[in-house]
Amino acid sequence: MPNTITMGADGKLHVPDEPIIPFIEGDGTGVDIWPAARLVLDAAAAKHGRRVAWKEVLAGQKAFDQTGTWLPDETVEAFREHLIGIKGPLTTPIGGGIRSLNVALRQILDLYVCLRPVRWFTGVPSPVRHPELVDMVIFRENTEDVYAGYEVEEGTPEAAKLTEFLRQEMGFPIRDGSGIGIKPISEEGSKRLIRAAIRYALDHHRKSVTMVHKGNIQKFTEGAFRNWGYELVREEFADVAVGWDDCGGDPGEKLLVKDAIADITLQQVLTRPAEFDVIATTNLNGDYLSDALAAQVGGIGIAPGANINYVTGHGIFEATHGTAPKYAGQDKVNPGSVLLSGVLMFEHLGWQDAADDIVAALEATIAAKIVTYDFARQMDGATEVSCSAFARAVVERL
Ligand code: NAP
Repeated sequence: MPNTITMGADGKLHVPDEPIIPFIEGDGTGVDIWPAARLVLDAAAAKHGRRVAWKEVLAGQKAFDQTGTWLPDETVEAFREHLIGIKGPLTTPIGGGIRSLNVALRQILDLYVCLRPVRWFTGVPSPVRHPELVDMVIFRENTEDVYAGYEVEEGTPEAAKLTEFLRQEMGFPIRDGSGIGIKPISEEGSKRLIRAAIRYALDHHRKSVTMVHKGNIQKFTEGAFRNWGYELVREEFADVAVGWDDCGGDPGEKLLVKDAIADITLQQVLTRPAEFDVIATTNLNGDYLSDALAAQVGGIGIAPGANINYVTGHGIFEATHGTAPKYAGQDKVNPGSVLLSGVLMFEHLGWQDAADDIVAALEATIAAKIVTYDFARQMDGATEVSCSAFARAVVERL
């Protein structure tokens, strides 16, 4: 019997064997990659006696064409009720009143963690010599920072008013002709993000959490993020984790929580990737870092992602690339990003066995050099196959 996933009083998801999971197919290449990914997800779940009761919900162009709205209320309600969902890429409406559907969903459900695991899959073409050393999980804060959207445009009455206030009341000598953006970073927002990263690291037996920040320059936002993180370790995790300064870098049996400046981190993830494990970071740093790291493992087209609220249990797993409209409906592109987002979702649901099987089958397929056009153009001797044929090849290897 299909059933709803619920959040228990123990703060853990309760997942029935046949959970109802809403999905948004996605615009553009969504029509290609979603059915391909679903084929693999269903086959892997069935192998372990489980079944997903998929429930289609609309958003983006398909929703607009059928209902006249970009993000129907029923879609938001379905995600609210069923807690966990998955989505393909969505067209960003131009002049539709919504800045971005992805941002709207994040804000409505307060999905404060952007989760981006970055690892190399055997056989994937990569620009570095040792992509296998990259195995990081990025927890990017999803609601604050310059992404909060508090900006005034140069030349407007709002900019003039804010400039005047900052000059008169704060003594900040803002130049004429400035646009101004506001960067709020709160204790609550920082601690809930870092708490989620530490819990993940403990649950997954990871060795460290690195807080990445720019606190040497932005002391009361980025620097405070770091300080609140160390405070949190002392307040809530003293028996299982320890901050670098409190142990001189030697955590013993405990989880090590350390910090690193963002610019140096961008160098070191390239030169010493093995030193990074779970990363907790502010919104803008996380944006740069996730894409830079995905490129390092050759995974920019197959990188998975999720937006999660670990308190309410809401989570939306998603392809990280866009709709690639020039390829839409051609059964051509790589379904890897939405498929691996599904794998991440299975792991989140506790279906680790099915998730592991998909990863092994995906690696076996790529090792056999059966790949879509994007990998084929970077590999010698590859057999280029369509999106759906790639999915069937993965299923054959499950
Ligand atoms: P894009 O759709 O990500 O496409 C850029 C390029 O990435 C493609 O031309 C293609 O490269 C490659 N690519 C994308 N998906 C791929 C796949 N599945 N397999 C292999 N290669 C893939 O970015 P865009 O063209 O800037 O954006 C198009 C639309 O998507 C816009 O409306 C944008 O707002 C929206 N968007 C949505 C999301 C989201 O919903 N999460 C994210 C980003 C953008 P080659 O040309 O080299 O083959």
